[in-house]
Amino acid sequence: MTYLSDLYIDGTWRPASSGDTLGVADPATGEVLARFAIATEEDCLDAVSSATRAFPAWRAMAPRQRAEILRRTFETLTAEQDRLIELIVAENGKAHADAAAEASYATEFFRWFAEEAVRVAGDFRRSPGGDKDLVVTHEPVGVALLITPWNFPAAMATRKLAPALAAGCTAVLKPAAETPLTAAYIVDVLRRAGLPPGVANLVLPHPAGPAVARMLAHPAVRALSFTGSTEVGRILLREASSSVTTCSMELGGNAPFVVLPGADVDRAVDGAMVAKMRNGGAACTAANRFYVHASLAAEFTNGLTRAMSDLRTGAGSDRRNHHGALVSAEERDKVARLVDEAVAAGAVAHFRAVAPDSGAFYPPTVLTGVQHGSTLTRTEIFGPVAPIITFDEVDEAVSMANDTEHGLIAYVYGPLEDALGVARQLDSGMVAVNRGVASDPAAPFGGVKQSGIGREGGFDGIHEFLETKYIALDAL
Ligand code: ADP
Repeated sequence: MTYLSDLYIDGTWRPASSGDTLGVADPATGEVLARFAIATEEDCLDAVSSATRAFPAWRAMAPRQRAEILRRTFETLTAEQDRLIELIVAENGKAHADAAAEASYATEFFRWFAEEAVRVAGDFRRSPGGDKDLVVTHEPVGVALLITPWNFPAAMATRKLAPALAAGCTAVLKPAAETPLTAAYIVDVLRRAGLPPGVANLVLPHPAGPAVARMLAHPAVRALSFTGSTEVGRILLREASSSVTTCSMELGGNAPFVVLPGADVDRAVDGAMVAKMRNGGAACTAANRFYVHASLAAEFTNGLTRAMSDLRTGAGSDRRNHHGALVSAEERDKVARLVDEAVAAGAVAHFRAVAPDSGAFYPPTVLTGVQHGSTLTRTEIFGPVAPIITFDEVDEAVSMANDTEHGLIAYVYGPLEDALGVARQLDSGMVAVNRGVASDPAAPFGGVKQSGIGREGGFDGIHEFLETKYIALDAL
């Protein structure tokens, strides 16, 4: 397989001005797939300048024309889905089925925002005092800086690029150092779909911090859309404050999965497998803590164990494997440390599957006897580990579920009325009721509390890249 591994600036693929590169490895084998150009700070500022130059023509282009470029991008990505899947598996390590699910979710953002590009509504009203007319319009904010993590190398890029471009913004995308190859491919598909030079640029500074800070300080950069850790999100919010740049933040999660009395346990186990194991657990939406009513705990634990033991762990390139590698040996070691510490503190490794010894694999694991409030329940695990905690009273489950600085998503299983009652009490941007997955390009994705600011997808997503303008007129 050949890979695009240069910087994309002003419509041209080019090496870094320093000539430096970094290796992008296949986490299943450790093999270096490609060497990606490391952008210097000057390269990054060039990308911002190119986006700045491209902005006036792009914002002035008819929405329908912008939409058609996004639609062609959707069509090409659909036609080349196998290529997209192969890239995701190669650099991220996830299982083929996970990559296929990501590829179709990622591609869908171009269709959704092609449709949204032509539907940005303003309003026109008589003022309450009757003296004037109020005209409200929405305009693209300017150059958008898009920073993405490695866990969904395609979807995190498209969830930002599609709405930014649909809104009429130009963009500089900075993917994660672990997974730049998928992002480069997507940017090239946009180029092939007719995106004018400079409208989307891609840079990979490494380390990211200093170059991102310089780009953020550039006066033309008016929006920052970031997906990643809460820790880095806080740094970026501080940096963005000096230029008062609009920030959309999709940060960490610590999703509770609540199984209420009367829940259909088989259904809850199926949902738990999706909520926990999708993407090998490396998702900010991954179920991180299972609160199960005492009356169902044994049945749920055994069901989950049976389902986990049916999974085959191994390289994502082999379609027989359900569970792939974590993105790196460091990530695997982090998960292993968390589990070892929990067991040392009294949790029981009720089930641990087998995983290949070489490569960044961690076996699906079920832990019981976990204490609410322990490190494990306060840390985003980002791996295939399910800690089970039992409860007796529903109020207790709600308060444990809410006892976190995060609030991205929660899962609730139970009789519909009870589950909805709990869903209303959860401090969470999203709640999946009797379902193991909620994400949909047509729905607003985002969290409350320290899980983030703003929403991606849905009707809200495009507004993260639009500024409201109010024009006052004498009453007509
Ligand atoms: P994760 O835990 O998913 O690796 P990070 O928050 O570390 O999340 O990384 C998400 C993205 O943020 C990546 O593209 C990474 O390169 C970038 N990043 C990390 N540190 C900084 C920083 N100080 N400034 C800007 N971007 C950063």
